[in-house]
Formats: sequence, structure tokens, C-alpha cells
Amino acid sequence: KAEFKTLKQAGNLGELSAPLDFLLLILSSPSGAGKTTLTRKLLETFPDLHFSVSHTTRKPRANEIDGRDYHFVDRAEFERLAGAHGFVEWAEVHGNLYGTCLAEIERAKAEGKSGMIFDIDYQGARQIRAKLPEVAGVFILPPSMAELERRLRGRASETEEVVQRRFRAAMREIEHYALFDYVLVNDDLESAFATLRGIILAERARRIRKAHIAELLLRS
Ligand code: 5GP
Repeated sequence: KAEFKTLKQAGNLGELSAPLDFLLLILSSPSGAGKTTLTRKLLETFPDLHFSVSHTTRKPRANEIDGRDYHFVDRAEFERLAGAHGFVEWAEVHGNLYGTCLAEIERAKAEGKSGMIFDIDYQGARQIRAKLPEVAGVFILPPSMAELERRLRGRASETEEVVQRRFRAAMREIEHYALFDYVLVNDDLESAFATLRGIILAERARRIRKAHIAELLLRS
């Protein structure tokens, strides 16, 4: 209780925060569903959200920057971190290892962010939910499998073999939709984004996150 700012200290109700009032949002999708574009728009709209930069053993793509898109590490370093319990979750995806460092969450909190976005697969979503039950999970679907294939093919950086592998992986990913709280069909970017924005606003208003405000009002 002592961790709550009083109304007077905070200045206005909106500035009050409590430990649970930190949004943990998982955005998951098969590759090609448009998750990267949606995530970029989200971070522009909500600058107080932190994008969780994962560790991966995958090689960087041409447009990717170490430390911004991923922390690119070799397998030995990844395994060292996993052995030292440095990861909240980790999984093998498309033959590479990906993991979310505990330090990433601590950093976001230390920087005074109000929440963070995890771009992770269903295996990671399952592990985070087990450890942090207050997490909200959003699953993004492509409008059709034909459109998904078209989008995967449009990525010049991928070979045909990779496209085929990712298409099969997409089916497997979609099978796990039930692990998520929200399902979003990305047929039109603007309307998908509007829904995503709505999900964030609603999640932030959850009683579990805002109970402290009601309690303070009652005490004032
Ligand atoms: P890509 O290699 O295309 O950047 O990502 C491939 C898949 O790995 C995506 O579905 C992405 O969400 C997932 N991924 C990225 N980082 C993590 C992570 O830290 N943990 C888990 N479990 N999956 C991740």
C-alpha cells in the first residue's frame, strides 16, 4: 500500500500507478500477418510502451540493427543465458533460438515506461502467461492463407525453401490461437490498428490495474 503515490503527490489521478499497473502485452502471429507493421504503429502511438528486444541466434536481416530489433548472439551465449536463468521464456522457432531476458522487463520499469510489448511466438506466450498471469495476449491472423503466402513471397530476403517452411509453421502457429485473449484479423491495416489500440486502452482500464485509484478516492 505504501507504494501508491497519494493524489496530492501525483497531481492528477492519471499519474497514479501501482505495481500491477504495468501493461504486459504479447503480440503473436504467424510471420506474414503484418505484426511488425502493427507493432511499429503501436510504439509511435504509445511512446510510453517499451518494445521487448529479444535475444536470438538467427542471423540479422539486411535492415536489422543489433540492439534495436534483436540482440544477435551465438548459440553458446544463448545457452549460457538460458542456463543462468536469464530468460523469462525462450523457444526454438524456425530452427533458431529466441528468448526474452528478465532484464528487459526490469529495464522498461526502471525507465519509467508504463508497459511493454512482447513480439513472441505461442511457445513463449505460454511460458510468460504461466509466470505473469496478468499478461494480455493478442493473436494476429492474416485474412486468408492465400494472402499469407503472397505476403511471405513478397519478402525478397527469404528463399523459396524458407517461404515454404514458414507457411507450414504458420499453420502450426494458428492452431494455438486459444492461448490468447484477443484474436485480430489483419485484413485492413487501419482497422486492425484501431482494434489493437482499443485493446490497449481497455486493458489499461482493467480493475486489477486501477483498483488503487478507487481505494485512494475512498481514503481521501
Ligand atoms: P523473425 O525471425 O521473423 O524475426 O521471428 C520469428 C518468430 O520468432 C516470430 O513469430 C517472433 O514472434 C518469434 N520471436 C521473436 N522473439 C522471440 C522471443 O524472444 N521468444 C519467443 N518465444 N519467440 C520470439
